[in-house]
Amino acid sequence: MHTQPFVIIPWQNDFISGLMERVLADTNSNPGDALIIFPHSRPRKYLSDKLRFNEALPKPFLMPQIFQVSDIFQMLRSELEATPPHVIEVLDRVGLLMECIQDINKKDTFTSGPLQSLPLNDPQRFFPWGMRLNSLLEDFFNQNQTPEDYYHMEGQVVPFAAILLGQLGRIHDAYTGKLESRGWTTPGYDAFRVLQLLKESSKPVMSLSHKKIYIAGSYGLTGVEKELFRILHTEYGATIMLHSDAGLTTGGQTHWACREHRKWIKEWAVSTELCETPQEREQDLQLYEGFDLHSQLDAMEQQLLQQESIGDTAVVLPDTGLMMPVLHHLPRKDVNISMGYPLWRSNLFQLLEVVLHLQENKRADGYYWKDIISLIRHPYIKMLTIGEERPFGVTLHNMEKELRRGKSYTTPFTIPFTHDENANASEEEMQELLHRVLSFAITAWEEMSTPAQLANTLADLCTVLLEHGGNLWERFPIDAESMYRIMRKVIPSLRECSLAHEEFSQGVLFTILREIIRGERVPFEADPLTGLQVLGMLESRLLHFKNVYVLDATENKLPGLPGNDPLLPDSLRSMLGLPDARHRESVAAYNFYRLIHGATNVHVLYQTGSERSGIFEEKHIRSRFVEELLWKEECRQGKLLEAGDAPLHGISYPVATIKKEDHVIHRTANINSMIETFLTKPVSPSALNTYLNCPMQFYLERIGNLRPVDEVNEAEDFAAIGDLFHKVLEKFFTGYLHKETEFSKLDPEPLQRMFVQMLHESNIKEEVPYDSFVMLETAGKERLSRFLKNQPRAKIDSLEKRLIKTISVDGKERSIAGIADRIDIRDNTRVILDYKTGSIHKPDNGLWQDEFLMAQIRTWDGGVEDPLDQLADKIVNLQLPAYLYMMHNPKLTSTCDAGWVELKKDGKEHLFFEKINDELHDDIITEHIPLILQFMLRHIEKSPVIRPRKGRHCQWCTCTAGCSV
Ligand code: SF4
Repeated sequence: MHTQPFVIIPWQNDFISGLMERVLADTNSNPGDALIIFPHSRPRKYLSDKLRFNEALPKPFLMPQIFQVSDIFQMLRSELEATPPHVIEVLDRVGLLMECIQDINKKDTFTSGPLQSLPLNDPQRFFPWGMRLNSLLEDFFNQNQTPEDYYHMEGQVVPFAAILLGQLGRIHDAYTGKLESRGWTTPGYDAFRVLQLLKESSKPVMSLSHKKIYIAGSYGLTGVEKELFRILHTEYGATIMLHSDAGLTTGGQTHWACREHRKWIKEWAVSTELCETPQEREQDLQLYEGFDLHSQLDAMEQQLLQQESIGDTAVVLPDTGLMMPVLHHLPRKDVNISMGYPLWRSNLFQLLEVVLHLQENKRADGYYWKDIISLIRHPYIKMLTIGEERPFGVTLHNMEKELRRGKSYTTPFTIPFTHDENANASEEEMQELLHRVLSFAITAWEEMSTPAQLANTLADLCTVLLEHGGNLWERFPIDAESMYRIMRKVIPSLRECSLAHEEFSQGVLFTILREIIRGERVPFEADPLTGLQVLGMLESRLLHFKNVYVLDATENKLPGLPGNDPLLPDSLRSMLGLPDARHRESVAAYNFYRLIHGATNVHVLYQTGSERSGIFEEKHIRSRFVEELLWKEECRQGKLLEAGDAPLHGISYPVATIKKEDHVIHRTANINSMIETFLTKPVSPSALNTYLNCPMQFYLERIGNLRPVDEVNEAEDFAAIGDLFHKVLEKFFTGYLHKETEFSKLDPEPLQRMFVQMLHESNIKEEVPYDSFVMLETAGKERLSRFLKNQPRAKIDSLEKRLIKTISVDGKERSIAGIADRIDIRDNTRVILDYKTGSIHKPDNGLWQDEFLMAQIRTWDGGVEDPLDQLADKIVNLQLPAYLYMMHNPKLTSTCDAGWVELKKDGKEHLFFEKINDELHDDIITEHIPLILQFMLRHIEKSPVIRPRKGRHCQWCTCTAGCSV
């Protein structure tokens, strides 16, 4: 029984150098006698290089055996067991757990055991719980613990979880029994078993004997690690070397982040020995507060450019997702990356997500157009090759154009194929390949029902991408490595697991695929170890750098948020002896402070403020670890620091306001001629309205023919809805033409029925979202009923009647034409009605008495004193005045009126002459309206410039880009 003291290398010093010196001293410069166990694989290369380049070490020499902890378990297993069990993948574990629970349930049939209430024969409902149960049992194995049945969890977890926890001990026993009987194991159970075998073994393990063992740099041990180390320490004389606060040896105050070390030393009641004196160094700490990731990256880039050399420098990322943006901001490209890049962040997974979304958003009438566009825009599809050529650019571009012009739900297979004339590949070859790829990406995913079928479909898609990817896979190693992981890990685990031929719904199959991919990482190993290193936080453990950059040091990444596990929430984990968020915080803190203490120049960058707005607002705050560094600095300076007080830098950039001026078009001979052509044809009231509201919009739309891009309509199609109401009312009133009718007394039901029938026959159903369609049906019926109730007694004279009339403007004959929705005869008055599904804007009654304005519009002839704006302020809509002008016939004795019918609300009429006396009525019809219409036509013809007129109407304008410079 050995009781070696723990050896402490101060965390200011380089751990790998200290370890090497210790090993050489203990082995009399024969490092081959040593066996070193690190918590992970990275330090192995650093130690080997240090030994290799150690000039004081006589050559040749034997390298020590260097393992990471998981390798030690494997090594022991191969020595302690003649036929080691087979490690099974996660899907097999879930399948086995379901089998165990079904067996327990069968045994409990007569006693109505609690598991009977679970959907045990429904793999779909069980699967997500199976995944959680698997990781909970792995946790117990890793902690060297055997779970019991945990009763009375109701109220703390959901009922499903409470039942599983109440039977956890039995499930565990059945599960381990089945693993043993089948010769299977899991990563956690394997470590647990090896430990039991080691304890039971009466003989010493040969590979550990006669070796000087070092357990180097561990922190926050799992239960099995702690027990293994205890055996190695007491029975094989292993030296435990910690990289920690030197205060642990003196009994003085130690940094709180080393609490796991302190606990370990106290638990084992061992003494400590300080291996080296802590190095004193002047540390330069700089903190940078950015407003987003890019501002941090920019600040990092600036600092790196100022460094004399980028040697001995590490850029440390708490989130591996930062790797790609960081690589784009590094001033030099010869960097070394050490981290596991998550497969789910790869381009390949993004393509798979599009493929899954296509199926998830599919409807009976096709695939969602945006999903199809995402698919054909994906670089892997765009870059498909035939021979050496990538011929699909034009074809896919045209396909996208067609999709944008089509329906919301459609299929890409019916879009006509366009062949690029410049392509060398033949049309047949291209059609065949495109059809094959689209089938493998879309239709092949429709019918699958088992993991094995999912694997085959995925394999077909990957194969065609590999065969027709050209040099893509050589040029982009991350993509190639991701493809390799899918082909070599994901597909086999789907195809060969015990659930491979179980039937699952599409939703569960996709969840299985996503879960497996989420667990995969693409490993990057830096080599050589010089120059700038880009590392994950975990990969930086035990390493030492002079210059350290920590990016995105926010609270949600350092230490990170507790996971949300409905089976065993974080708050209950410590009660069952499992590590919880506090433990994870200790580990994150230790990794962070250890790295910082060893560096001379430290740059910590983080983001503050919100990333997104609205209900999903995510506020970033600096990590509590950064807060501590800042607090120490504030104590040192004796004041609270604001961004801008060194060493706390606020990253900001001078922002100049973007000045936008109105775009004014000076008319040319060409423009004049186009306008004259326009005026020779009948001008509609709506064209006059557009001009009145904004001459620029009129010019761009009506003269320049500028139209919005023809795209699938995703929101309510107001134009189509308005059109439908017009058609319904025209059809309904046709039966009442020329008959005096009391419309308010009519039963609204036939009108409503007609509306519903025409609505269902229209294209609106396919074009608007379903909820909008249902709302439109309900609201439309109600509004038509109210409309009918508000209709007066009248005789309908005509429906959808085209009106046209000439008007003389400065000696030229112009004409105005439009279609009146309905013309009634009420007593001796002809009333023109216009149905409005939008808002109604009545003119300002003061307009008709404004003699000054009337004089201005009478005399304006292209001069600077332009009354157009004043007129536009007083009257927004010239439709009814134009109809009144066209209807007025001085030879008839009947009078005229006009009105808007407000279908948007209660269907009430708003008559033009409602509050106007008879005398003014005549003046308006015979003088003011013709004057205004003449002015408008003159203005269109003679205005020397075309100006925008900004206002509320700009919200609905499609020419916004054309009116400012
Ligand atoms: S955005 Fe406004 S100002 Fe510009 S063209 Fe349209 S309506 Fe006129």
